[in-house]
Formats: sequence, C-alpha cells, structure tokens
Amino acid sequence: MKPFLLLPLLVMIPLIATSKIRFDNYQVYQIIPNTLEQVNILRELEENSQGYDFWTDASKPGQPVDIMVPPHLKYNFLDFLNLQKLNAGVWIENVQKLIDDEKSQVSRRAEDFNWKEYHTLETINAWLDSLVERYPGIVTPIVGGRSYEGREIRGVKVSFGPGRKGAFIESGIHAREWIAPATVTYILNEFLNSKDASVRAVAESRDWYFFPSINPDGYAYTQIDRMWRKNRRPYKQCVGVDLNRNWDYHWMEGGASSDECSTTFAGGSAFSEIETKSLSEYITSVADTLDTYLAFHSYSQYLLIPFSHDESAVPENNDELHQIGKAAAESLSVRYGTNYTVGNWINVLYISSGVSVDWVVGTHQRRLGYTYELRDEGQHGFLLPPEQIIPTGEETLDSLVRMISEADYHRN
Ligand SMILES: [Zn+2]
Repeated sequence: MKPFLLLPLLVMIPLIATSKIRFDNYQVYQIIPNTLEQVNILRELEENSQGYDFWTDASKPGQPVDIMVPPHLKYNFLDFLNLQKLNAGVWIENVQKLIDDEKSQVSRRAEDFNWKEYHTLETINAWLDSLVERYPGIVTPIVGGRSYEGREIRGVKVSFGPGRKGAFIESGIHAREWIAPATVTYILNEFLNSKDASVRAVAESRDWYFFPSINPDGYAYTQIDRMWRKNRRPYKQCVGVDLNRNWDYHWMEGGASSDECSTTFAGGSAFSEIETKSLSEYITSVADTLDTYLAFHSYSQYLLIPFSHDESAVPENNDELHQIGKAAAESLSVRYGTNYTVGNWINVLYISSGVSVDWVVGTHQRRLGYTYELRDEGQHGFLLPPEQIIPTGEETLDSLVRMISEADYHRN
C-alpha cells in the first residue's frame, strides 16, 4: 500500500479524547520534609512539575506533602527521594483501584438522588430543579454565571422568609474534589428536611445561596480525567486555569503560577475566566446582604481563615474568626473524632493568591469567610470512598450549625 493512502484515514481520527484516562499503577507518596531546605527542594520539583502531580503543596517542615507519581517515573522519583534524603511512604498503591472503587458516576433521576454515591453534573442539576418544584416559595433557582464551554453555573436560594441576612456556599471550584459538592448537597438537603431544632434554627436564620459546582466544565471533564482540577479553557500550550487563583484580590502575588501547564495557573489576568468573572458579578449583586461566605474543598481537614497572600494581612475580626472557627472544629470532631486544624490560610498552608474567599472578605468586607478542606488526611486524598460521603456531611453540618450559632450568639 502506498503511504499517502493512509493519510485520509489519519486525519479522520478525532482529536478529542472521549475515553477515560486510566491511572493504573500510579502511586501517591506521602513525604514529610524535616528541614526548610527539603521543603524548598519539593517546591522546586512542584514548579518544574515534570509529570508529578502534587496533591498537597510543600508548606513547612513537618507538614506532609502528597505526590502522585506515574509508573514510568517511579524509579526517577525513588532516586530523587534517596538523593535528597527524604522520608516517604506509599499512601496509595494504585490510584486506578480507588477510582474503580468509587464506581464511576452514572446519571440518576432526581428522585433517586442520594449520598451513597457521587453524582454527575446533570444529576445534581436535575436534583436542584426538583427542589424548586418540591419547595415552592422556599427554593428558587439562580444562574450565577457561565462557563467557558457554555454551561450555566447553577445554584439555588433557600429562604424561609423575608428580612434575613445572606450566606453563600460554593463548592467544586476544583473539579476533582468530588466530596465538596457531595457535602454541600447533603447540607442543602438537611436544611430543607431536618427536624433537628438546631439545624432548623440555622437553616432559617439566613437566606442561603448554594452553588454546588462553580466549575461545571471541569467537573464534567472529571468523567474523562478523574484528576482534573482547573477549568477547560484552552490556552496556547495547555488547557485550563486554576479558578481559585483567578479572583481579583492580590492576584498573582504568590502561590500561583504563570505557567499555562501548571495546576495552579492563575490565568492571563485577574478575572480572565468567564466562570470567576460572571460569578463574582452575581456575588457583588447580593454582597450587601451577605454576612457569610464559605468555600468547600478537599482535602487535609483544615478550616482556613483569610488571607492567603500575606502573613501580616488579616481580616479586621481575625480573633473572632479564630474563636468561631475553633468552636466549629470542636463540634465537627464530636461525632467521628475527625480532627481539623484552624488558622489563617497562609499560616496553615502556604502562600496563595487570587482565591475566592479572600476576594469576598477583602473586597466586600463580609464578616464570616472560611474555606473548608474536607476529609481525609491523604489516605484516599481526592478519591474519598463513597461510604464516607454521609459521615463527612454529618460532621460538616455539625460544624456549620455551631459556626452560625456562635456567630449569632456573639453578635446578639
Ligand atoms: Zn481545592
């Protein structure tokens, strides 16, 4: 056969990946650096990424760093550990096994929505629609913005009457953190159905804005690449911006990357992405009423207080935020003994900038702003087994009830 005859066949091969990316024998190592020098070496490795996926960032000596290593780099990585005298253990033997255990999302009817499994974007949206029908006058639909691929950023407002302050809840800005939307929909459901007096009091104390998936393109894409974090806007060399580095508050002042291929690529400019731009406009339209803004992520079990970009920059009511945060974490630990660390983002984690809660608290001077980093501590990382959705929902709701009760108690 003449070679040129092959050409028409070749050009017909579609370039868009539709089959799932597999992670067979990808391993996750947990490293605990002992010295600042080792922390810096890990940061360098992260910046030059070279195929390693940092599930958690290097922050300070003694703080664990989780890195996913593809099988073809395993021996390079072991050499690196030896050369740098780094102590490491394998926390996840085979990433694909955990993905298989999650049982990939299947589409469900809204009536079959549950917290025993993770759901697709379509199922979550269908369930939100069903709430609007089932709770007329209480639940109203909101389109908070748009995505690069033209999806709506869907939310609902839950209001039990006029004259209340507002509280805003977002999750899913990082696509692979599936436990975040699952927990937020759990809380939303309890706010509507719980008969517990303390839950009722908190649910009815405010107008709640729930946005379970504010990076809908990224979340949909995790059906193909389970480890996807960013949005899906193509740049020149790579796809996607880390939407939680793109907000217009001290944008690109540290802990964010100008490298398009980095998982923390901050975008071409502040609010360069339609998701952050459009949603921030919606938030601004209701900002005067808000006293609370909560962002849900995973993982590491932290409750983070602004700000992320500068140690000397703290919210005006920093002491109050610590006090309320500690009370919330204490209540969270009661049910299952799950321990959270509470503190200002830059102290607990590492420097970041352009994050959503910082923008809300810094720009609109709202009173309560927290970022939750949900379960676990790296045993499963982003691949938290579905059996843990309900326990995570329960304990997180406990903490939220305490947080709001404390806040109102101190103010009244
Ligand atoms: Zn996150």
